Order: sequence, then C-alpha cells, then structure tokens
Amino acid sequence: MKTVGKSLAELHKLLVNKEISSVELTREYLDHIREYEPKIKAFITITEDEALKQAEEVDKAIAQGEEIGPLAGIPMALKDNLCTEGIVTTCASQMLRDFNPPYDATVVSRLKAAGAVLVGKLNMDEFAMGSSTENSGYFPTANPWDLSRVPGGSSGGSAASVAAGEVPYSLGSDTGGSIRQPAAFCGVVGLKPTYGAVSRYGLVAFASSLDQIGPLTRTVEDNALVLNAIAGHDPLDSTSVPFNKPDYTQFLENNVRGLKIGVPKEFFGLGLKQEVAAVIEQAIKTFEQLGAKIEECSLPHMEYALPAYYIIAPAECSSNLARYDGVSYGYRAEADGMIEMCKTTRAKAFGQEVKRRIMLGTYALSSGYYDAYYLKAQKVRTLVKQDFERVLAQYDILLSPTTPTVAYKLGEISDPVTCYMGDVYTIPVNLAGLPAISLPAGFTDGLPVGMQLIGNYFAEGLLYRAAYVFEQNTGYYKEIPGLLREAD
Ligand code: GLN
Repeated sequence: MKTVGKSLAELHKLLVNKEISSVELTREYLDHIREYEPKIKAFITITEDEALKQAEEVDKAIAQGEEIGPLAGIPMALKDNLCTEGIVTTCASQMLRDFNPPYDATVVSRLKAAGAVLVGKLNMDEFAMGSSTENSGYFPTANPWDLSRVPGGSSGGSAASVAAGEVPYSLGSDTGGSIRQPAAFCGVVGLKPTYGAVSRYGLVAFASSLDQIGPLTRTVEDNALVLNAIAGHDPLDSTSVPFNKPDYTQFLENNVRGLKIGVPKEFFGLGLKQEVAAVIEQAIKTFEQLGAKIEECSLPHMEYALPAYYIIAPAECSSNLARYDGVSYGYRAEADGMIEMCKTTRAKAFGQEVKRRIMLGTYALSSGYYDAYYLKAQKVRTLVKQDFERVLAQYDILLSPTTPTVAYKLGEISDPVTCYMGDVYTIPVNLAGLPAISLPAGFTDGLPVGMQLIGNYFAEGLLYRAAYVFEQNTGYYKEIPGLLREAD
C-alpha cells in the first residue's frame, strides 16, 4: 500500500493537494486492515461505514475550499476503553460486549472536531489490566515484528495496529505503562502525558488516580500533532488541569546541546536483560555525541513503586468496577433474585485477572488492612514522587529502558507476578503523575527495544524535542516489520 509508512504531515499534504481524497485514503487503510487483520488481530470492531461517512464530510469541506486541520480526513483507531457514541465499547470484556455508550469521550469528540476518521476499536487487556493483551476477553493480538510474540499491553491493539501500518496513529491509555510498554515492544512512539493534561472523561476507569490517555504513532512529530488535538483543560473531568497548552510541534528542533539528562541507576537493575541494556547504553552514547550532558542519578525508593502500585491500582479498580452489577451496564446473567443475579453476572463476565485485582483491592481496603496496605502504599507513593521531584530539579529529563525485556512469546509468561515485573520502569512514572515517552532505541535480534524519557510536569514539549533529535539522528522509525516488507 502506498500510504503505509507515510507521516501525518505527508498524508495531510496529499489531501490538501488533492492527490488523494479522504475516502480513497480511508479505503486504502481499510483494505490494508482486511489484509493484515487475520494475522495481527488488533481490532475488536471495524467501523467501515462510519469511517467512510466521516471521510466524505472531509472531502466535501476540501471541495468547498475550506482549510482543513492536520488530522482531518486521516484514519485512526481507538483503544476499546474509550467511549464512542453508538459504537460498541467493550474494554475487551465480556461484561461490556453489548455496551453502546450514549456519548463520546472528550478525546473522541476532540478528534472528531479535528476531522479525524475513526476506522475501529482496538484490542487490549480486559479493563486495561495486563501487559500482553493476552488478558483480552476476546482473543490475543500478535506483534507485527514476530507473530509468535505479544505486542505488549494493555494497549496492545493500539501499538500493533500502528506498527502494522493499519492506521497512522491510535490512542491508548496508560495506568502503569500500558502505552509505553506496548510502544516499546512494537517499535512505535507512545506518550503518557502528565496526569491532568488530557481529559479522562469517557475513558472507562481502571485506576482513576493513575489513568491517562495518550497517542501511539510511528514518529515523534506525528505524536506531537495528535497531542495537540487531544490535550487541554476539560470541565467534564475534575482532574483535568487548566494550563496553557502549547503547540507541541514547535519543540521539534534538532538540538539537544547542553540538555542535562539523568540516568537513574535503579532502572538498570535486576531483571534487565543484557541485550536491552546494550541498546540503551548505545542510545546514551548517541545523546552524548549529540551534545547532551549525561549523568547517573538515583531514585532510592524505586524498588517500592511496583508493590505500592499493586495495592493502589487494584484498590481503585475494586471501587471502579463495582458498577458492573448486571443492572446498569452491559451483561446480565439469568439467576433467581438480585444478589444471585449480581454474583453470577460478575462470576461469568469478568476474566481471571480482573477478578484477581478486585479481590486484591477489596482486601487492601478492608477495615482491618487499610492502614497496613492502602495507607502504607499511599505513603510510598509520596516518597516516589519526592524522589522524582528531587532529581528533576537537577536534570531536564531522565532516561531509562522502557522495559527490562523485549517482546516475549505468546503464552510464555503465565504467572501474574512475572508479568507485573515487566512494568518496573514505567509504573513509578504513573505514581508520580509525570509525563514520559517511549521511542524506538534500536533492535536486538530483529526485535525493537524501547527507550523511556521522563520529564517534569507539563514538560511534554521537552520530551518531544529530545525524542525527535534521537529519532532524526538514528532513523530507527524508518524500519518496518518484515511482514510488511514482504508485501511491498
Ligand atoms: N500492566 C499494568 C497493569 O496490569 C499496567 C496496565 C495499564 O497501564 N493499564 O496494571
């Protein structure tokens, strides 16, 4: 397909110059999706009719000589925990298999207003709980770089669809790493914005004090363009922060001279695979050669971040998921009496991992254990946040691997704790509410390795600049999975 691999700016130019219409472009993507979906399985729902209607609207606007924005007429897809009016939003759960939201999430209405063309809803771990998309209540998704491997998770469909060229960009959500980790596994760029920078209104809640929505793209510039469209204050989300949203593309200058980068030594510890470490060390050298100042630093409480997260996130999830009682939303089991109906509904429609989290969270919040677990975890959270605040007063950004390993084989990790360990480098960032980006740092054995850059609150622009410089000087984004090369 000729449009695969084209950036948003290039696609925009094709549309404005009338070299292709939005309907034609959308059809090309839909054809590509049809060709690759049997192998990738990134989509839960494909919205062909709606997409073509939206594309026609944009074509009309172009024909009337209207000026169109940078995302107008270009296809995209959404993680299936983002509410879309009248389009089934399953959260990859049997619980919500028939749930048609009566409203759009704010990010969805903002993309619609920007003329974006929604081609479908993407697979994920059920209710965003997981790191491999194998917890989906429907089917697993494959990694486009190696179909026998996981795409990461929970936004696995969001990352795999972009890596496979099925869409130029997608949105995901990140509670403990779910944008950055799949971005790393699939060799794409994923940003978790500052907590409060992007409205969560209409995002099906997992752990509300941690969840953030963000873009997954092939390039840094594309990422900045999508963030431009979705970020900014929203009165419908009480955790949304009023701030002066910049044009994020203005930060994309090819210069990191003098930039102070801290490398936290705790992010290179136990569990980090040698081949991943080697790629990240090379990336550090690249930054040095480009004129950045690199120093080792320390975040002493990092080892407690993962255990604290696995108290706080399940605690919040146990409360958020209490609403799925067979009465208000989605699935309802047949049973005698209200209590039996509610119990059977939850027993049947929730998957194992979701049940595990609800049980963990309910236990941690119970009166006898609240102080010992939940309160303690909240105190640890403060220490983690203070560690970051201290080092970010000395450094402009921090650099680390995104994940300790590359994408593992489907079915390889069956015990939950090993799976949880995969998020050691991403989770602390959510606890602190900071922004972080994962971008391709290189390859090992043909599999992508992700590098994480962490910034201060609302410093997404600086993250984009550093990521852009690295990307432009290394060119890893030009690599495409063998699967697509064979087709050319
Ligand atoms: N993998 C982590 C978890 O299972 C993070 C998930 C997420 O960010 N949504 O909780």
